[in-house]
Amino acid sequence: SPILFWFRRDLRLSDHPGLSKVASTGRPVIPVFICDPSVDGLGAAPKWRLGEALRVFSEALEAKGSRLILRRGNALPILRGLAEETGAGAVHWSRLYDPDARERDEAVKSDLKGDGIEAVSHAGHLLFEPWTVETKQGGYYKVYTPFWRAVKDRDPGTASSAPSELAAPKHWPDSDRLGDWDMGAAMDRGAAVVAKHARVGEQKAQQRLGTFISNIIEGYDASRDLPGEDGTSRLSENLTYGEIGIRACWEAAQRAREDGKDGAETFLGELVWRDFAYHLLYHTPRLVSGNWREEWDAFPWNEDERSAEVKAWKQGRTGMPFVDAAMREMFVTGTMHNRGRMIVASYLTKHLMCHWKIGMKWFEDCLIDWDIANNSMGWQWAAGSGPDATPYFRVFNPETQIEKFDRDGAYRRAFIAEGQEDPPETALDYFEAIPRRWTMSPADEYPEEPIVGAKEGREAALKAYKERDF
Ligand code: FAD
Repeated sequence: SPILFWFRRDLRLSDHPGLSKVASTGRPVIPVFICDPSVDGLGAAPKWRLGEALRVFSEALEAKGSRLILRRGNALPILRGLAEETGAGAVHWSRLYDPDARERDEAVKSDLKGDGIEAVSHAGHLLFEPWTVETKQGGYYKVYTPFWRAVKDRDPGTASSAPSELAAPKHWPDSDRLGDWDMGAAMDRGAAVVAKHARVGEQKAQQRLGTFISNIIEGYDASRDLPGEDGTSRLSENLTYGEIGIRACWEAAQRAREDGKDGAETFLGELVWRDFAYHLLYHTPRLVSGNWREEWDAFPWNEDERSAEVKAWKQGRTGMPFVDAAMREMFVTGTMHNRGRMIVASYLTKHLMCHWKIGMKWFEDCLIDWDIANNSMGWQWAAGSGPDATPYFRVFNPETQIEKFDRDGAYRRAFIAEGQEDPPETALDYFEAIPRRWTMSPADEYPEEPIVGAKEGREAALKAYKERDF
């Protein structure tokens, strides 16, 4: 009988342990994607980008003589209905690790089994399953460096190649039309601008990995910190929808390391940061919902999302050029350089003393590489409420950061048009990319003074921490 493969964040054919497994049985495979409440509830940019991913993945399946069946509703009744309709005796999927997905998947698994349908979950999203990495005492890791040491020489397994064919069922079940789902509906801003930068689908992701390994990884140790350069892999948007497998990235970087390429080890370390974020999320699900260090509940965060400070931060008009360039980069490209993410998060949570959840939610709406584990870990790390040894006094200075990481001004010029005689397309595109309700133009004056200065913000934050004994 056919096997239903329920795709979620694994929209690829190669380095796909679950798909390899079902393809190897020779039984017909029916690929399914369900627009359930978790998909409907996505932020505007991730939802739009997922729609693009589904379009390209459907085409890739068609090239294999297969199809992606699209259905809308709650997963369990849809899978049950499809099993009944097609005579499928099994449902397979790749595991996810956030609390909502785990709860849903556990319920789906036990109910399907109760119906006599085989339900099988596979690894694939991570290098190492979160429960397989343990401290000597048998606990989970709360600090990155020992986690890295524990896994760096472990073998995550070999990346499989794409199945040569996926056997089709005798009859295909009906499918919704992707266009009818209108995945870009909430994108109240210029999706066309972001589309110029997005790299959608498995093939493009693999090409980018190739380019990164051949031309960029060698200098990655230095270039990864320079947001004005093309110095990182930019694979996060593909990793988040599973358009490229993490094992394939790991293998390519291991080969680069064996070839003596300098930045390879650092890059492997970044891939492990992603696993670490999932390890934390799995073992402490509150990472997404509340202060990881509970003593931070007592901190008097500014929680007013509508305040003038938050608005200026979101709009990239704080008057602090590094912060503004980064916030605008996010509108224009749908992603933000890691250096930018650290600086804007530090400025919001420390200089403006706003709750990290405000920033986390905004990123969730704006990033095409939004990743639940990386985003929540990143915000809590920056705010100081998270795990890993982040002393509260690590307040990034957005002015001295410029000296170190954007000395030639390439990043600021790329995204801030005001004051430039002949601004580049990316800087002008910002005005196309912002929400339609914001009325701003390149002719506006750039704020003369920052809303909160580097020194004054730092002092106020440190004073607040000291008063409360943080
Ligand atoms: P590269 O430097 O090429 O690294 C390769 C891969 O390693 C990345 O694609 C990513 O999967 C992983 N990685 C790199 N740095 C980190 C990190 N610090 N934490 C976890 N994994 C990492 N990353 C996301 O993928 N989605 C998010 O929503 C996200 N939100 C963030 C929010 C904040 C406040 C901060 C500080 C960081 C966030 N990050 C997020 C982590 C990091 O900024 C991005 O992964 C990185 O900038 C992506 O660019 P790249 O693919 O070129 O990275």
